[in-house]
Amino acid sequence: MATTTEKKDYYGTLGVKKTASPEEIRKAFRKAARRYHPDVNPGDKRAEEKFKEISEANDVLSDEKKRKIYDQVGFYSDQIDPAQAEAYARHQGSGDGMPVDFGGFDFSGFQSGPGRHPGQGAGSPADAASWGSFKDIFSGMFSGAQQRPRGPQPGSDLEYQATVDFWSAIRGGQARLEVHRQETCPTCHGQASSGGPTQCAECNGTGQVTQMGGRMKFNIPCPRCNGTGRTTNACATCHGEGVVSRTETVEFRIKAGTRDGQRIRLQGKGNSGINGGAAGDLFLIVRTGAHPVFARVGDDIHLTVPVTVPEASLGAKVDVPTIDGRAQLKIPPGTQSGQKLRMRERGVESAQNPGQRGDEIVTVEVQVPTLADERSREIMRELAKLNSNDPRMALFEKL
Ligand SMILES: [Zn+2]
Ligand SMILES: [Zn+2]
Repeated sequence: MATTTEKKDYYGTLGVKKTASPEEIRKAFRKAARRYHPDVNPGDKRAEEKFKEISEANDVLSDEKKRKIYDQVGFYSDQIDPAQAEAYARHQGSGDGMPVDFGGFDFSGFQSGPGRHPGQGAGSPADAASWGSFKDIFSGMFSGAQQRPRGPQPGSDLEYQATVDFWSAIRGGQARLEVHRQETCPTCHGQASSGGPTQCAECNGTGQVTQMGGRMKFNIPCPRCNGTGRTTNACATCHGEGVVSRTETVEFRIKAGTRDGQRIRLQGKGNSGINGGAAGDLFLIVRTGAHPVFARVGDDIHLTVPVTVPEASLGAKVDVPTIDGRAQLKIPPGTQSGQKLRMRERGVESAQNPGQRGDEIVTVEVQVPTLADERSREIMRELAKLNSNDPRMALFEKL
């Protein structure tokens, strides 16, 4: 049978468990074969493919020796000596991840080793195919500096916090922010290289390097050129990254009523893509600045307003600050310190619901006068006599 170096899930193909008995495998194959046999599905390409797959799976799993190698290595090839598979499995189990000393496991068999693949000379399509699968299987072992894939890659998004002053957030306006972003390299226009590809210096263009593992010697794909034999000179400006870091001042519009924590998306202002990939977006998280008098909670404005004892006691009309300037607030008679009074629609104009406004919430803070003259103290004592109720009575009643 043909050499198979791709990792395949034979158990899955036959729909059996890894622990399946030979009898179970035989039954599963027969059942699947009856369904997908080309005689039953004339002209059906998919059924034909499927039949090939199940035949291949059965070929390996129904043979005790082949199945053991498959279980140990993850694929089956006629070239693999059971002792080598054993050593490989032991190595994998040890978990140290080093590609040395495979106890005689000969990698050259998967490449263009002379005499290994009759009719499959170096460079033939079949050879290239086994190359690919070789890399897939062992890519985790040879963690050399692989060349980056050169297709278009989208740029990543950026996220910045943007502090916007109190008034700009309420009334809207323009704001600026300095951001560091990656831009397409102006020298190589994102190609990351200068000039055309040249012969790889590591492998002299062969695409392979020899690695020693204990007594063993095996060929592996050149990690520098990724087995292609060709490398390109990195662009001097971007050092082969294709992008350069830039500090840029970004100007953006703030909508009136923008709240703290709101996100603003600036499309295409993130990092540049590579090789023509689209740029990412820039996300700004708005942090609204504080104000010495007003505190903003959503669309509401909170503030504390001091009032005198007569104002709180007798009631009064007082001027209070709002975000639109002075406004009159009615203090009802008998207002207590800490009491909250709501001024409807004196808050922030909503960014989410145009035409709607929040409220201004005034917390009353009654200021107790310091009495400096005897006349005032006399009046206060008289007041006490006329209002002799004990404000702590309720406390004691609850004991
Ligand atoms: Zn460049
Ligand atoms: Zn090379």
